[in-house]
Amino acid sequence: MTEFVLESKARHAVCKAMRELKRLGLNRGAEGNVSVRFRDGFLISPSGVVAEDMSPDQVVFMDMDGAWSGAWKPSSEWRMHRDIYKNRPEAEAVVHTHSDHVIALASLRQPIPPFHYMVAVAGGDIIDCAPYATFGTEELSRNMLKALGPRKAAMLANHGLICFDETLEKAVLMAQQIESLAKQYLLAKSTGEEPKRLTEAEMAEVLKKFAGYGQQEAAE
Ligand code: 13P
Ligand code: ZN
Repeated sequence: MTEFVLESKARHAVCKAMRELKRLGLNRGAEGNVSVRFRDGFLISPSGVVAEDMSPDQVVFMDMDGAWSGAWKPSSEWRMHRDIYKNRPEAEAVVHTHSDHVIALASLRQPIPPFHYMVAVAGGDIIDCAPYATFGTEELSRNMLKALGPRKAAMLANHGLICFDETLEKAVLMAQQIESLAKQYLLAKSTGEEPKRLTEAEMAEVLKKFAGYGQQEAAE
């Protein structure tokens, strides 16, 4: 189900999420970008505009062919956003961040393994790291799709994180949770020991429980 019916609400939500990512310390300046699926395309943050100055009228509507119009240029990463909406029908919102610990780990070009059960927030037992490609390129988007696999988040080598979910609020939260996971993993690794990992069976159990977690219908 589409999260937004009213365009004005969707435009406002994109600006609000950009400010929230900044407040959480996950982005600085004009880093990162946000979009929500809308009608037969999506609404995406404008390129190079700092979150504090971003207004709803600057948010750009783009169709699935990458066509857009108006005075404001869409985020340079529109290809990654478009390719997620094209390939993942369950995606309603996409968030891209440059958060510190994700970047530290992504500069080692290492995935986040199942050292904690919360790795399952991204929908699998690993959060992979896409090989490096220049920002804004088709190559980066191709690498990202591969690293996503069936999951909802991927790190981008020497760059940052991209994730999606069924609501914008959930996608922002996931970006925050993955930044914490990267921090915790690096902290454990900094002892010089490799953190112990949960087994495939243990993670499968967590993923099953997640499906009915909280106030949802129980999956047990
Ligand atoms: P935009 O300002 O064009 O969205 O770029 C920010 C960014 O994070 C590029 O990877
Ligand atoms: Zn970026």
